[in-house]
Amino acid sequence: MRLAMRWLYLVISSGSLLTAQTIRLHVDLTDAPRNIYHAHLQIPVHAGDQAFVFPKWIPGNHRPSGPIGALTGVRMEVGGQPVPWRRDDVDIYEFHVTLPAGVSTLDVSLDAITSQDSAGASGPAASSNLLDLNWNAVVLYPAGTRSDDVTFAPSVTLPAGWKSGTALEVARTSGDEVEFSPVSLTTLVDSPLIAGAHFRKVELLKQGEKPTHVMDLVAESEADLAMTPKDLAAYQKLVAETGALFGARHYRHYDFLLTLSDQVGGHGLEHHESNDSVAGERSLVDPELGMLYGALVPHEFVHSWNGKYRRPSGLATPNYQEPMVGDLLWVYEGLTEYLGDLLAERSGLWTDEQYREALAGTAAALDHRSGRTWRPLVDTARSVQTLRMMGPQWQSWRRSLDYYPEGELIWLEVDSILREQTHGQKSLNDFCRLFHGGESGPPKVAPYNLDDVVRALNDVAPYNWAKLLHERVDATSTHAPLGGIERGGWKLVYNDQPNLFTQVAEKQFKFADFSYSLGFGAAEDGKVDDVIVGSPAYQAGLGPGMQLVAVNGRKWTPEILHAAIKTAQGGNRPIELLVENAQFFKTISVAYYEGGKNPHLERVTGQPDILGDILKPLTP
Ligand SMILES: [Zn+2]
Repeated sequence: MRLAMRWLYLVISSGSLLTAQTIRLHVDLTDAPRNIYHAHLQIPVHAGDQAFVFPKWIPGNHRPSGPIGALTGVRMEVGGQPVPWRRDDVDIYEFHVTLPAGVSTLDVSLDAITSQDSAGASGPAASSNLLDLNWNAVVLYPAGTRSDDVTFAPSVTLPAGWKSGTALEVARTSGDEVEFSPVSLTTLVDSPLIAGAHFRKVELLKQGEKPTHVMDLVAESEADLAMTPKDLAAYQKLVAETGALFGARHYRHYDFLLTLSDQVGGHGLEHHESNDSVAGERSLVDPELGMLYGALVPHEFVHSWNGKYRRPSGLATPNYQEPMVGDLLWVYEGLTEYLGDLLAERSGLWTDEQYREALAGTAAALDHRSGRTWRPLVDTARSVQTLRMMGPQWQSWRRSLDYYPEGELIWLEVDSILREQTHGQKSLNDFCRLFHGGESGPPKVAPYNLDDVVRALNDVAPYNWAKLLHERVDATSTHAPLGGIERGGWKLVYNDQPNLFTQVAEKQFKFADFSYSLGFGAAEDGKVDDVIVGSPAYQAGLGPGMQLVAVNGRKWTPEILHAAIKTAQGGNRPIELLVENAQFFKTISVAYYEGGKNPHLERVTGQPDILGDILKPLTP
């Protein structure tokens, strides 16, 4: 909906009963290891021309990512007789049928191929041991209806012996068949299901405490499910910290759906009463990986308040065919990124040092985004449809989904200004309570626009917020907004010590980062991902897609190049890179003599440590 609908609450969980208009949906998941789900729908219909649609604009993806290309095996029948269907000439998400007199139910069979679509991310949704079902991939619904007004009675058949987790209410279980209570299409699409041969349910609150918070885990092996007491305590504290931060909860119960796998597509997708997150296979048992994925679950959890309950009006659409407007994604995602990282630290998933290393990495990356000179931040939000699935080539010049990390820097700046203006009496914590709190209860949506954000900030502390946000979001600039770090009593520095996060990410994702020295990143095998415009490597002629073959005459490895950078430091002999560019070889001389450069935060002595105050937990 693009109308300004400030504080118009849409109650979206209908709790409806099974009626004559209910669509029955059964999904046979027994072929999940082959990445194909078989669905059968029984749709109440009337005679004549009708149209059904496949969800196109997917919440949380913020773009037309409904996997229409993966929809296959579509057959329609009435009373066992095939009915021909025809896809719309223009809208490939719409199907037309003409139904005979006397008909009341249309049977639809369809398959979803899930090899390349894991909740809108790349990579498969299932492996030999586990699966992720996003219901939007297996439904059709009557064209022109609101998703709140369509009721589904869903059920699944799981692979033999697998267990499942979802925020949906289980009505009946019989062997591998699970039936759920009827829900609106909105709630169905908002309630994915994970299942696996290796499954564990962890209660995060004490018995009797409400609302319940449960973590449902699936993994590639039983050993990967071994959550440490420290992590358990941190996730319990995460629940307590969100209560203290927001002052209300907008769900009846909450399910953390966590998949531990390197085989399926990595993603985190937020919902009102659950989140569907995929972390590295060993991230519960390997502390380094635990750190790398430490902010994933806090981020997705924050979205229950910021994104699901409070939602930019351009993203609060009546159904999945209506286009979304992404202008305010720097609030939806940027503030969530800020709060998610803070909550990772406040709950103990990260140490203070780890938080600062993550922040330094973010600040450095954005300060080297050459594309910020032509593309304002808001344009990265408006362009989510194209930017989300682009490769890394020329990323720094094109910009990426910068509204996430740059949003984080902007909200840090806002928080530090609030604290400065009120001499530490008020902070962004007060904004969150005001903007995201209110009354606890079942899921609902309270849409907002930019004026509402500015008004709430002014209610916490008067300041020219409109001007500040306009400058940060709508204008181009040469440098990243580092004001929050500086007002916080810290500064961004570079030295040859590795950044903690980059070091672990290089190992996990098999790449080598030379962004802040030579000015490029490459896969471990030497394929260049991105070259920063204006950097020494760029000046020398290196480009994305080129293959590094040798460094100063010796076969390329990341270690050899690190050593060459060290040797060249303070001298005047350029580093010679032999590169292959589509079968042709060339030597590129990079005149760079400043040694290794990795980002860190350094304390500014004599200035108050406001960042330290920001990191303080709100609960004992
Ligand atoms: Zn997010």
